[in-house]
Amino acid sequence: MTQPANARDVVRDPAASSGMRLVILGPPGAGKGTQASRIAGRLGVPAISTGDIFRTNIKNGTDLGRQVKDILASGGYVTDDITNRVVDERLGQPDCADGFLLDGYPRTMAQVAALDDILANRNARLDKALELTVDQEAVVQRLLKRAELEERADDTEEVIRERLDIYYRQTAPLASTYAARDLLVQVDGMGEVDEVTDRVVAALGR
Ligand code: ADP
Repeated sequence: MTQPANARDVVRDPAASSGMRLVILGPPGAGKGTQASRIAGRLGVPAISTGDIFRTNIKNGTDLGRQVKDILASGGYVTDDITNRVVDERLGQPDCADGFLLDGYPRTMAQVAALDDILANRNARLDKALELTVDQEAVVQRLLKRAELEERADDTEEVIRERLDIYYRQTAPLASTYAARDLLVQVDGMGEVDEVTDRVVAALGR
């Protein structure tokens, strides 16, 4: 059984659920994880981070953790099959019935299609795709600083470069796909944490 990473869910207020189904896009270092949990809290939906789910499973030595450990350490993407399965299972849990904010998923076009299917199977669909836009150089500096402070195996300079490169090649194009579907909401991700949260919540019309 996959172990969900629930640490980011605790701040939410189910009574205040907005019922929104959202994804958040943005490069590594955009402050996406921080914003995801804050925005989710304000909207009363759980924040679901695939990265956190993988890290929790690695930490707890589950089968899934053993399967993805080396991939995370290298900065590459976990296979779509594994990732889609994890998300399908997580979105099937009761706390996601009234909305969610997915952080770090989808990351590939195949995952976009899989998410559509996962939701269609539950008679649901995505309400919005948020994109945090940032200055690329600022992002590199942030990641290097974080690498110093934390001891994440995927935060060495080489791995940071690899992750940014993969992001711009594979994940950035997802924004155009959502734009074509009129779901994309772009928000400037630079500035104070509170400011960015307020901007996002305002952009969502909340
Ligand atoms: P960050 O927010 O710092 O970019 P995450 O915590 O979202 O990183 O993800 C960490 C790692 O987990 C990724 O580098 C990748 O190996 C794996 N991962 C997370 N989400 C996905 C996904 N949707 N598809 C494939 N791999 C993923």
